[in-house]
Amino acid sequence: MGKRITIAIQRKGRLFENSKNLLIKSGINFTTNGEKLLARSSNMNVDILLVRDDDIPSLVSKGVADLGIVGQNVLAEQSTSNRKITAKAILDLGFSKCRLAFAKPSNSKLRSLKNKTIATSYPGLVKNYLRKNSINAEIIKINGSVELTPYIGIADCICDLISSGATLEANNLIEFKSLMNSEAVLISSSNIKNISDINIIELVKRFEGVINAAESKYVMLNADTNSIKQICKLLPGADSPTIIPLQQKNKVAIHALCSEPVFWETMEKLKQNGASSILVMPVEKILN
Ligand code: ATP
Ligand code: ZN
Repeated sequence: MGKRITIAIQRKGRLFENSKNLLIKSGINFTTNGEKLLARSSNMNVDILLVRDDDIPSLVSKGVADLGIVGQNVLAEQSTSNRKITAKAILDLGFSKCRLAFAKPSNSKLRSLKNKTIATSYPGLVKNYLRKNSINAEIIKINGSVELTPYIGIADCICDLISSGATLEANNLIEFKSLMNSEAVLISSSNIKNISDINIIELVKRFEGVINAAESKYVMLNADTNSIKQICKLLPGADSPTIIPLQQKNKVAIHALCSEPVFWETMEKLKQNGASSILVMPVEKILN
């Protein structure tokens, strides 16, 4: 038993459910009741800190937590304005995908950001963007309901997080420029190469195994021996499929771990190329 590992995750909000599932799928059992700040794993040497997402970069930078799960957007914004935020993203987690983008009212004639007023919760990132593009504009920092600011006359446009675009649409706003893409990331106080604690390294490997598995599918199908080559070519991201002879002459079963999504279109193409009984199955864990 090494020293306890502390992981900071969002207590409630858009990141919570997926963060919790990632820990649980990685073998860390724990329960939360929405109130507690600290949950202690019942089966591993791990403590889970349940906090606001905004606090996660600094908790990890200070070493209060060894690892944290936060949006790249929050880590990037805080890193622009605070030199004490030294936490690094060590693994992309594939959930809470969104983009930070500029949007304007759909009836606005705005053509460039020049000399405009931009409302945002991400003043550091917007400022860097303006500086990089030599644009002179005013930024007002707003913490919530940024999408309303153009209508109360305090901003010409906004820069905010967008995922499906439904919020924009509901507020009659249209996106006109994307500043950055974001997703949830695992963060640590140092680069992955400099992590010396073997228990942390093992845990990060487990996270990686869960993330990789989420994108992977196990595909099984039957085919004629003469279509093997063509079918294997169609299997997305399959390393080396297993070919098993079937009782029926000139027939084989092909099994493959596909590391890329298997869409209906792929399955239909497989069928057109002689595959039958095509099964696509979820993969729970992968250890490479
Ligand atoms: P907290 O109370 O923890 O401070 P919050 O209100 O700041 O929560 P949430 O709205 O729960 O944060 O969003 C957390 C993260 O989810 C965002 O920082 C971003 O990385 C991601 N996210 C994904 N899609 C969206 C979206 N459409 N709007 C806002 N955040 C999104
Ligand atoms: Zn927040």
